Amino acid sequence: MNTRDFIELAESRSAHNYHPLPVVIASAEGAWVVDVEGKRYLDCLAGYSSLNFGHGNPEILAAARAQLDRLTLTSRAFYHDQFAAFADGLTDLCGKDMILPMNTGAEAVETAIKVARKWGHEVKGIREPNIIVMEDNFHGRTTTIVSFSTDPDARDGYGPYTPGFTIVKYGSAEAIREAIDENTVAVLIEPVQGEAGVLLPPDGYLPQVREICTSAGILMIADEIQSGLGRTGMTFACDHEGVIPDMYVLGKALGGGIVPVSAVAANADVLGVIKPGQHGSTFGGNPLACAVGNAVIAILKRGEFQARARELGATLHDRLRALPGVVAVRGRGLWAGIDIDPSLASGRQVCESLMTKGVLAKDTHGSTIRLAPPLVITAEDLSWAIDQLAAVLGEFQARSPKL
Ligand SMILES: *Cc1c(COP(=O)(O)O)cnc(C)c1O
Repeated sequence: MNTRDFIELAESRSAHNYHPLPVVIASAEGAWVVDVEGKRYLDCLAGYSSLNFGHGNPEILAAARAQLDRLTLTSRAFYHDQFAAFADGLTDLCGKDMILPMNTGAEAVETAIKVARKWGHEVKGIREPNIIVMEDNFHGRTTTIVSFSTDPDARDGYGPYTPGFTIVKYGSAEAIREAIDENTVAVLIEPVQGEAGVLLPPDGYLPQVREICTSAGILMIADEIQSGLGRTGMTFACDHEGVIPDMYVLGKALGGGIVPVSAVAANADVLGVIKPGQHGSTFGGNPLACAVGNAVIAILKRGEFQARARELGATLHDRLRALPGVVAVRGRGLWAGIDIDPSLASGRQVCESLMTKGVLAKDTHGSTIRLAPPLVITAEDLSWAIDQLAAVLGEFQARSPKL
């Protein structure tokens, strides 16, 4: 089958809940993927940061392969020999007492919500716990999570909605202070809003959120599913401002690009509210997931990818800001949201043109594209990708009626 046949069959037999670029990937290594026709592309999306350590990372792959031959699934009805190391390693990485493992990011967010509510009921004696969330958030796709989305595509048509959330403006500490009442149990926040277009909060905001939560006696929950695990140049995006949330929500890169692995991490006074039978997952914390997770944690403890993201990220941001047709560049580390002059092209058009030049990236919201290559990318490849973006923007400018 050629590319068109693959796409036609896929589109006729699957729900149209995505609008993929017309490329059919067959293999990959490091930062590069190869399509069914043998064409190579530089992956500048990295599975929305699930592939921070690259496609087929040898260390993670070796751990997965060894585990595949030994033991893959037990359920949590029994212990298995990978679990203790995973829990120990991840609590150490997070500086927390305990973890609760799940699979997808949305499940980890649901877990955080359930834990916060239960903590509210049992520790604070609140009957109708409420959680403060941010405008333009992205926390996943479950019915409860889309209930507090402000994106009509994500939310509309899925009611009735789960109550118990108050939405405030991202970046305003005052808005949080005003929203807190006797029912508030937590603030759920992305330290960088990835899906919204790689939006950084104003300097000093995250420490203020921390301070507000501490003085109100409520939980600060950081969704670091996309921002965490090296992407921004630190282990957690909260680290940039020295902020320690009460609960980390992790996913994506925790699975090493191999299997879905997610978790929440918190201290015992919070996670301890969950007792046997009160929450769980058949696959959460399975042996293969833990073996992969252990390899990821070992990599993160060495810090080499955090350093790469910092160093390459500095070049990335400097060069992007100098490109013609770019209105704004946001981000941190190897993560950039780039607003293109909307009179030049849509984000989708830019991504389609980039694809023909051998770079895969993803648009978000109109004329914004984001670049988030695997952190294994070389400086040369990164520079080449930016050259391709410069060429694409140059071509759109040459075609623009304004000139
Ligand atoms: C991707 C993402 C999620 C949801 O993760 P899934 O694995 O797709 O369920 C939640 N929060 C953030 C910040 C994300 O980027």
